[in-house]
Amino acid sequence: MSHVFPRHSRKSPPVVARGEGPFLYDKSGKAYFDGSGGAAVSCLGHSDPTVIAAIKSQIDTVAFAHTGFFNSEPAEALSDALIQAAPGNLDRVYLVSGGSEAMESALKLARQYALEKGEPNRRHIIARRQSYHGNTLGALATGGNMWRREPFAPMLMDTHHIAPCYAYRGQETGESAFDYGQRIANELETKIAELGAENVLAFVAEPVVGATSGAVPPVEGYFKRIREICDSHGVLLILDEVMCGMGRTGSLFAYEQEGITPDICAVAKGLGAGYQPIGAMLCTAEIYDTIRDGSGFFQHGHTYNGHPTAAAAALAVLTRLTVDGLADRVAPMGAKLHTALTDRFGQHAHIGDIRGRGLFIGMELVADRETKTPHDPALQLHGKIKAAAFDAGLICYPMGGTIDGKQGNHILLAPPFIIEDSHIPLIIDALDTAITASLP
Ligand code: PLP
Repeated sequence: MSHVFPRHSRKSPPVVARGEGPFLYDKSGKAYFDGSGGAAVSCLGHSDPTVIAAIKSQIDTVAFAHTGFFNSEPAEALSDALIQAAPGNLDRVYLVSGGSEAMESALKLARQYALEKGEPNRRHIIARRQSYHGNTLGALATGGNMWRREPFAPMLMDTHHIAPCYAYRGQETGESAFDYGQRIANELETKIAELGAENVLAFVAEPVVGATSGAVPPVEGYFKRIREICDSHGVLLILDEVMCGMGRTGSLFAYEQEGITPDICAVAKGLGAGYQPIGAMLCTAEIYDTIRDGSGFFQHGHTYNGHPTAAAAALAVLTRLTVDGLADRVAPMGAKLHTALTDRFGQHAHIGDIRGRGLFIGMELVADRETKTPHDPALQLHGKIKAAAFDAGLICYPMGGTIDGKQGNHILLAPPFIIEDSHIPLIIDALDTAITASLP
């Protein structure tokens, strides 16, 4: 009898035996193409020799030293590399163990910055419906996904949500994409006015929405308008790039494609590429210096802040992405995958939208293409597709509740950047098999 507390008590997933390139193998020897990197994690596949060597070498030197006592060379080097790669004013890096911790750190840093700046009323967080920012209580309260929030609602801090930028469902007939983006961004201005600008701390958003909506990119001009609104009211812009960052959308930071820069940015997942658990919160010099010149102490911290082995792994990942150019493969390979998906599913009666950026692609399922009516949630279509694709040897990341936390289904793809042309038919055929087998 197992003593593991699994994700699902009534499911028993196979035991993973090894990983090689983009494939995972279970103990029976069956191969699975990792078409979603788990949940957009394994951007370098499962056997990158450089990253593995960096981890081994760091463990041989010093595996861990608490940041309450020591700084470390890997933490310094990784922070330098991240800041060098991040456009804009980001200047300091706070290393944690994953995405939720990075987001919690971002929220608390924003609050402490406001306090030390002499703006103690600033406390309200505004985020977007259908966003996901993590599962710890602060991050969960910030996220706008009803299904994930519901059981814990009585324990969540008060937050405020505006509409997501979701053109497939939100853009009106006759409205240009640009006008739609401006209209939706202006909801932030309305919400700030409602709460009183002097009380608003931060606006939080995923540049490209990941797990909850299925790789939904913003329309042109949306984030520029958001940045303008934040600036005019002294509201911090926190971008959650935990899923869409680290090259996934074709640029190292997804926000680069929006022509804006955040005050605080969270990354994780692709940062460690699964080789080590690591996340990071990046903030501007203005924020850091305010605390340095004020209390001198960010009242936060986790045991594994700045973990040397995790930092060494992430530095090796970042080097693979930037110096070795693996992130440069994302745009061309993403375009090939997108074209192949469009060729096979573009006219499919039950695929309403194929969207995304780079190797971050979502397909939204519909019962009717014309009316965009979703399938009955009781069908649990996403669960069926996930299981059928897995049987067919493909790991993909389908989810339900795409539209509002209850209605709608999508499939998220986030394959590793080492994907080759020959892998694309594997993905397309397994998806086709899985979708056909799962539709009512
Ligand atoms: N933010 C976003 C956008 C995510 O997609 C996730 C995880 O899926 C998180 C935060 C939380 O990250 P973690 O699961 O590493 O805590």
